[in-house]
Amino acid sequence: MNAERIVQLSRAGVAVEVVAQTGSTNADLLARAPQLAAPVLLVAEHQTAGRGRAGRSWLSEPGNSLTFSLAWRFADGLRGLAGLPLAIGVALAETLGRLGQPVQLKWPNDVLKDGDKLAGILVETQALPDGAAWTIVGIGLNLVMPDALEEKIGRSVAAMPWLARMDRDALLAALLDGLADALSLFARQGFAAFAARWNVLHAWQGRPVVLLDRGEIQHEGLAAGVDDTGRLLLDTAGGRIAIVAGDVSLRTRD
Ligand code: ATP
Repeated sequence: MNAERIVQLSRAGVAVEVVAQTGSTNADLLARAPQLAAPVLLVAEHQTAGRGRAGRSWLSEPGNSLTFSLAWRFADGLRGLAGLPLAIGVALAETLGRLGQPVQLKWPNDVLKDGDKLAGILVETQALPDGAAWTIVGIGLNLVMPDALEEKIGRSVAAMPWLARMDRDALLAALLDGLADALSLFARQGFAAFAARWNVLHAWQGRPVVLLDRGEIQHEGLAAGVDDTGRLLLDTAGGRIAIVAGDVSLRTRD
């Protein structure tokens, strides 16, 4: 992958860096956040210690996946950023849809293809003394999934071999443009501008689901999409409840 070419192919006006290998692009940008002057996209050809939520890991192999992070500054700080991972999911899913690859979203932060996880999103933040905040939006997207890696992950996962054959720089430029548009819109209007779009892409609308907290069932009901702040709406026996994305995992009941 070539940083200059990605910049040329993108209309976002964001600086791009490509490294052959690193532990985690999110960790790298988080460490640099206090010194960053402008948004930057960091792409790793190979990420050796990819991270998911709550210390979980994201596994990938060089050439077979995209692993990258985008640092973006929010002038208003951390306030109102709760729905950001969901808005990023919308941006990612819509960009893939435009490339002819329809995908769905699973609350709060996964992109699914045919029911299996295709991409993960990890948003981390760092508040600045001037009241602003840097957000680091990390994405891991499977292009090809070798059997051995799927076995290591320990569950059935999805890949997108069609995208693997596409010009990688053009693919990253398209993803960068989609993310930059979404981040700008989110800064102006918050998650409310994305809620209807998220619900159109919802993988499990109307399906029976359980909400797990460290393996324990917290709630069960029918998944009814998200509200204007990104909370999951769950129709339970006791009525509709709204769930905030903490460290909870959603599973289908069947
Ligand atoms: P869950 O999917 O259980 O609700 P989560 O959304 O919090 O969890 P993340 O933190 O986004 O998951 O991602 C980490 C999890 O993704 C890992 O625990 C592993 O199960 C799974 N995983 C790791 N690598 C990959 C990969 N390349 N493709 C798909 N899934 C992966």
